[in-house]
Amino acid sequence: APQLNQEEDIIFRSKLPEIYIPNHLPLHSYVFQNISKVDSRPCLINGSTGHVYTYAEVELISRKVASGFNKIGIQQYQVIMVLLPNCPEFVFSFLGASYIGAIATMANPFFMPAEISKQAEASNAKLIITQACHVDKVKEFAQEKDVQIVCIDTAPDGCLHFSELSQTDETQLQEVDIHPEDVVALPYSSGTTGLPKGVMLTHQGLVTSVAQQVDGDNPNLYFHSEDVILCVLPMFHVYALNSIMLCGLRVGATILIMQKFEINSLLQLAQKHKVTVAPIVPPIVLAIAKSPDTDKYDLSSIRILKSGAAPLGKELEDAVRAKFPNAILGQGYGMTEAGPVLAMCLAFAKEPYSIKPGACGTVVRNAEMKIVEPETGKSLPRNQPGEICIRGAQIMKGYLNDSEATKRTIDQDGWLHTGDIGYIDDDDELFIVDRLKELIKYKGFQVAPAELEAMLLSHPNIRDAAVVGLKDDAAGEVPVAFVVKSNDSQITEDEIKQFISKQVVFYKRINRVYFIEAIPKAPSGKILRKDLRVKLAAGYPN
Ligand code: AMP
Repeated sequence: APQLNQEEDIIFRSKLPEIYIPNHLPLHSYVFQNISKVDSRPCLINGSTGHVYTYAEVELISRKVASGFNKIGIQQYQVIMVLLPNCPEFVFSFLGASYIGAIATMANPFFMPAEISKQAEASNAKLIITQACHVDKVKEFAQEKDVQIVCIDTAPDGCLHFSELSQTDETQLQEVDIHPEDVVALPYSSGTTGLPKGVMLTHQGLVTSVAQQVDGDNPNLYFHSEDVILCVLPMFHVYALNSIMLCGLRVGATILIMQKFEINSLLQLAQKHKVTVAPIVPPIVLAIAKSPDTDKYDLSSIRILKSGAAPLGKELEDAVRAKFPNAILGQGYGMTEAGPVLAMCLAFAKEPYSIKPGACGTVVRNAEMKIVEPETGKSLPRNQPGEICIRGAQIMKGYLNDSEATKRTIDQDGWLHTGDIGYIDDDDELFIVDRLKELIKYKGFQVAPAELEAMLLSHPNIRDAAVVGLKDDAAGEVPVAFVVKSNDSQITEDEIKQFISKQVVFYKRINRVYFIEAIPKAPSGKILRKDLRVKLAAGYPN
């Protein structure tokens, strides 16, 4: 029976018409659906070596790797950890996993041993693909849990070399039935609260997300087969995995792979390979805008600069626009759990869509967005800020083995609650104004306060602790800790910082420690992070 008194939600949709999305296809079939048109075109350029792989080669090697996974005993639904910097082998491994119906969990190769083993264990990974220099960090765990290790460069004792996979006979590849709801990627994210969790992205979800960005009768919406796309953002983060790698493959573009960010080699490679699309993050936007070397290179080939993963300040936007008068600078808005893209700038498309400073685009096609009042859940009209919620086939299936956290994030009507505060204006442009959730973003990388708090509390001289983000010009935000010492403890700021540094990747290091009498908490025991952030904004401790 229809529910009485139920208010209608105010729902926002894309300005563009809906499109047909073939999301019954497995991800690899979808991205290679039009490959016959681009067979001999360059697909991947290895920026470090200049080596070029054509589309035909990328597809063939990925199938060989898939067949190699079969050969070493990896089965459908099993998890493969890809612990690699950007490189062609990342692409082959990810697609290879898709072919056999396996699941790729991606992790930062610079993670410390405990960070890697936590993810490998939680995801139940059966295989780790990495480089020789990282083997020492995973060896012990792998031995204990009987996990195989494959190295892409040289293979130390006990590890297989990548050629064992990539030189397998692809005709031996075993056919599997892949269901659209099967998980294909398992990035880790802390979401709105707590520790990092496995985000289950399905074949259907990723196909939908890629289609929302590049499919349909609107070839200039994002990019096309003539484009050369810079891939300097890490593929282990879903932004680059989806919006660069998968979107690039789908349209038949060329993907220029940079293993790590360094401003001069970026400028040099962009000039050499005539990059046309540069998806980047605010700290790289800053480097490009501020580097005295930018003007020494001919970067006139760049037609799109796209920033995402963290807020982009207005001054920075203006500085970049001045440097690249012929390029379009627009933002995208993503969140791992959302598949990840929620909104993107339409100015990449043809007229009449113009760009608004500070906007992060319009909600993607074939999806619904609403803005709700956090306290009441009531949906809000235009121009009123509230929590951004999204619904559509692109969002995650849920968190792995964590139905509680899933229920907190995706409500019973299928709305994913982002923990971001924003509003939609009269032109359907979305503006993000604040972040409600705990998450700290250092140069676009996730730092989960709960992870650092748990580490701090494990120290015998620390009685209580809370971690929040402090605004920082270069990084956007840096983690800082409020600490209550145990009775009589003489522990110092430096000792605490070092204690954490030993256990975490560089961007999770604690930048400052403030000793405090008690951590402000709600009666429920929840840390009142906002109070701490307000303290900092007011210049605490001065
Ligand atoms: P991640 O899951 O690592 O991609 O982080 C997602 C979070 O990054 C979002 O929920 C936002 O808080 C933030 N974020 C992403 N894109 C933007 C953007 N264009 N402007 C402001 N914040 C952003």
